Amino acid sequence: MTQMPGFLDGNAAAGDLQTLFGTDMTMASGRCRGCGEQMLLAQTHAYLDGPGTVLRCPGCEGVLMRLVRTPSETWLDAGGLAHLRIPTPA
Ligand SMILES: [Zn+2]
Repeated sequence: MTQMPGFLDGNAAAGDLQTLFGTDMTMASGRCRGCGEQMLLAQTHAYLDGPGTVLRCPGCEGVLMRLVRTPSETWLDAGGLAHLRIPTPA
């Protein structure tokens, strides 16, 4: 069975994440709670065609982070990440 890639790299979510965190998040790194893989957010698999943005682990395809905007709120679910390390801007 062949599978269409259907995803972009994590840079595709950079604008949304920068708006939320107030800093460039592409160099932020995290660890997958599912498989333990360490990766930069830029290396995650970004799915933008659903209601919101989903970042998946490049190792196990587990959901790392979901970001959904409504007119009045932003929902962030980062439950798939064991941690998130955000570099302090210089
Ligand atoms: Zn994983």
